[in-house]
Amino acid sequence: MVRELTHFINGRHVKGTSGRFGDVYNPTTGEVQAKTPFASAAEVRSAVEAAQRAFPEWSAQNPQKRARVMFNFKTLVEKNMDELAAMLSSEHGKVIADSKGDIQRGLEVIEFACGIPHLMKGEYTEGAGPGIDMYSMRQPLGVVAGITPFNFPAMIPMWMFGVAIACGNTFVCKPSEKDPSVPLRLAELFMEAGGPAGVLNVVVGDKEAVDTILKDPDIKAVSFVGSTAIAEYVYMTGTAHGKRVQAMGGAKNHAIIMPDADLDQVVDDLIGAGYGSAGERCMAISVAVPVTDKLGDELVRRLKPRVESLKVAPSTDPDANYGPLVTREHRDKVKGYIDMGLKEGAELVVDGRDFRLQGYEKGFFLGGSLFDKVTPNMCTYQEEIFGPVLQITRSKTFEEAASLPSKHQYGNGVAIYTRDGDAAREFASKVQVGMVGINVPIPVPLAYHTFGGWKRSAFGDANQHGPEGVRFFTKIKTVTTRWPKGGVREGSSFVIPTMK
Ligand code: NAD
Repeated sequence: MVRELTHFINGRHVKGTSGRFGDVYNPTTGEVQAKTPFASAAEVRSAVEAAQRAFPEWSAQNPQKRARVMFNFKTLVEKNMDELAAMLSSEHGKVIADSKGDIQRGLEVIEFACGIPHLMKGEYTEGAGPGIDMYSMRQPLGVVAGITPFNFPAMIPMWMFGVAIACGNTFVCKPSEKDPSVPLRLAELFMEAGGPAGVLNVVVGDKEAVDTILKDPDIKAVSFVGSTAIAEYVYMTGTAHGKRVQAMGGAKNHAIIMPDADLDQVVDDLIGAGYGSAGERCMAISVAVPVTDKLGDELVRRLKPRVESLKVAPSTDPDANYGPLVTREHRDKVKGYIDMGLKEGAELVVDGRDFRLQGYEKGFFLGGSLFDKVTPNMCTYQEEIFGPVLQITRSKTFEEAASLPSKHQYGNGVAIYTRDGDAAREFASKVQVGMVGINVPIPVPLAYHTFGGWKRSAFGDANQHGPEGVRFFTKIKTVTTRWPKGGVREGSSFVIPTMK
């Protein structure tokens, strides 16, 4: 019997009434394990109304009390870590340890949110003019929404609602319809932590739910993470409807490898960052760029056996390097990119297309693939593959290698491997990419810094979490006060006041 999931609106589970459903798979077995309702416009609206009703009291709550709810929530998520990680792996397919990492990275934003009262403080100038003082305050926006992708079903909702709710907003989350159980469970735990009903709502759905969110006049801001085409659409539609929008998109992250790099470390890092989570990470390394052909030959020689011996297994296998991909459709799309790479003339050093796991023949597994001699004119170089496929693009000079990520349409993450501080410094300063690692393969900034790419990896100008997240989810008000001495009147002034 296939379970039926719900929405979570106004503090309780609500059965879907649209009559439209989607399948939630167990990617390890390939079976449908649940069906999820797809929200109608009316169901999204009821979540918005619940959030609107909750807003006056929640926003008026003192910031420290809001932070305490976040603190309780963090404790509860930690207590339920094993259950959440198993749930996450069973719908996404990533290995259990990686699911715990997904949850933990989200919790780090909740930890950051516990300190938000400090960032909500305004500024004050005493004596800005005669008898005049000036102060500013940060206020929440109202009802805000988050639309999230399948690949981090715990971390990315927490990036968004952690900051938004701690700032005093109320929230409508529209998680990926492929793995919605963890966001729904997080909403339950938030209530258990003392979060009032209506502060955190979850509606599961597809384009209809997204379009309703983008056009609803009572939603003041939308945070989106997903593929670039949808991110651009969300940004254009949301801003056309007067909303503040931040929309993070796809990626193609290069690792530049200089001849002086520690090659053992490079190989370890490329294997982990290229194939971990089956490559379904927006910060996965997807292109390695060795500088000089000699280094390219050596890199391929060392990578080949490592890719061939990757352990691809069910997410519950503690020795698995990675598990299945999220859906059959996505697995087949990645396979299609491997076919395309061959047609385009790249050299397929390791071919993972025929991988079969005994006993799990219907699971969405794919072996690791390695391409050499991928060139920038190839579609498989220009587009995001989002699977366990590492591409090698050879380069003759540092200048040529360093220009590749800057010229690419995406600009999410990049890494450089070298012992040369001068080259690394110049690279970090000049590269047209939002997050840079120096001898670090997945440079995901910590919660109190900020996450965001450049170019077609992000639309809008505010990043996720950190002080930028607080700015995104608040608006500033500046108050000027005058208390004339002894009630002295100054008369009308017809010129703009200056400090002359
Ligand atoms: P996706 O774009 O398919 O879906 C993201 C969200 O958009 C989901 O909630 C989905 O329901 C919704 N959606 C899908 N199609 C839609 C449509 N036609 N109209 C309106 N809404 C729609 O992305 P995904 O496959 O879930 O996630 C993988 C993508 O997300 C990759 O491209 C990856 O690089 C990207 N990603 C980016 C970041 C980042 O911070 N830059 C982080 C994680 C993932």
